[in-house]
Amino acid sequence: MISGAYALLNHEALRHNLAKVRSSAPNAKVMAVIKANGYGHGLLRVARTLNDADAFAVARVDEGIRLREAGCIHAITVLEGFTTLDELAAMLKYQLDTVVHNFEQLALLKNRFEQARIVVWLKIDTGMNRLGFKPKDFATVYQVLNECVIVKPPVGLMTHFASADDENDDFTLQQICLFNETTQGYYAPRSIANSAGLLAWQAALTDWVRPGVMLYGVSPFPGQVGLALGLRPVMSLHSHLIAVKPIEKGETLGYSGSWRCEQDTVVGVVAIGYGDGYPRYVKVGTPVLVNGSRVPLIGRVSMDMITVDLADQPNAKPGDPVVLWGNSLPVEEIADCANTIPYTLVCGVTQRVQFIDV
Ligand SMILES: *Cc1c(COP(=O)(O)O)cnc(C)c1O
Repeated sequence: MISGAYALLNHEALRHNLAKVRSSAPNAKVMAVIKANGYGHGLLRVARTLNDADAFAVARVDEGIRLREAGCIHAITVLEGFTTLDELAAMLKYQLDTVVHNFEQLALLKNRFEQARIVVWLKIDTGMNRLGFKPKDFATVYQVLNECVIVKPPVGLMTHFASADDENDDFTLQQICLFNETTQGYYAPRSIANSAGLLAWQAALTDWVRPGVMLYGVSPFPGQVGLALGLRPVMSLHSHLIAVKPIEKGETLGYSGSWRCEQDTVVGVVAIGYGDGYPRYVKVGTPVLVNGSRVPLIGRVSMDMITVDLADQPNAKPGDPVVLWGNSLPVEEIADCANTIPYTLVCGVTQRVQFIDV
């Protein structure tokens, strides 16, 4: 029984999107990024379907441990690496590969002499100014890492883009050039591109690519939907009408009475709200599919419900199906209406929503 919101997860689409990654970067190995619970789609279900990926990447050590405990035998890179000795010990125990991006991590690695070995990606900060060593420190850090007993060679080299989603911003080319200059002459696997990098920047296609959002069928580019890039949406979010009632001109609707009815109409109440991960800050007029057709959202989003204007659907009734985003209603469009990026919508679907594999 489904009593409210549910999300359908299309595994065929997930496989299709991985194939699209492969055709866009035919010579690269694919590190499928499944952090943040597989971008909200479910860590383990996504990992199982993306079994053909060459490796996985997660953000945190505990995400890697969850994969291992579920029987995952792929290489798993932890993008934020370890912060404490405990985390380093767990990474060794669970054979998780680490990103090394600061001197504190380097110090922790230097003082370990056990049998176990750890695979390391050395991260260079080429302009994002978040994680990574400055290019001037690269040579020293690389040498120290190679002298660490527990580091398993070869040390990989990576960086991350700040603006790859803007095809007109040459900051991305500057980052690629700086990375190439810094690492020139070093024999090591290299990894640069996220989804936007691998779709828009040929020069970013090195040994390994790290696609995330595109695997889920979502576009990394503002103003463009995944379908237009040859991707298929993996998640669709559904619910149904639970009430239909007339409202008269001049009456207000919902909390604070912030929405006032300009002409007599029919209000549909849908069982979905911010308690399910539907964004609270969507604008009035945001499209919602009722019985397959678009109707505008009116009034405020509450925790468990939203309201829509059913003027165009006088016969709609409780129980009728509603789609909040999915195949004919791109999540990218809803993200625009909520003044956010689609990443946050798929990541934000809550525990209450039932996930169904199709
Ligand atoms: C999240 C992340 C990615 C994937 O980014 P997308 O934009 O989702 O493709 C790649 N590399 C790093 C370091 C990341 O943190």
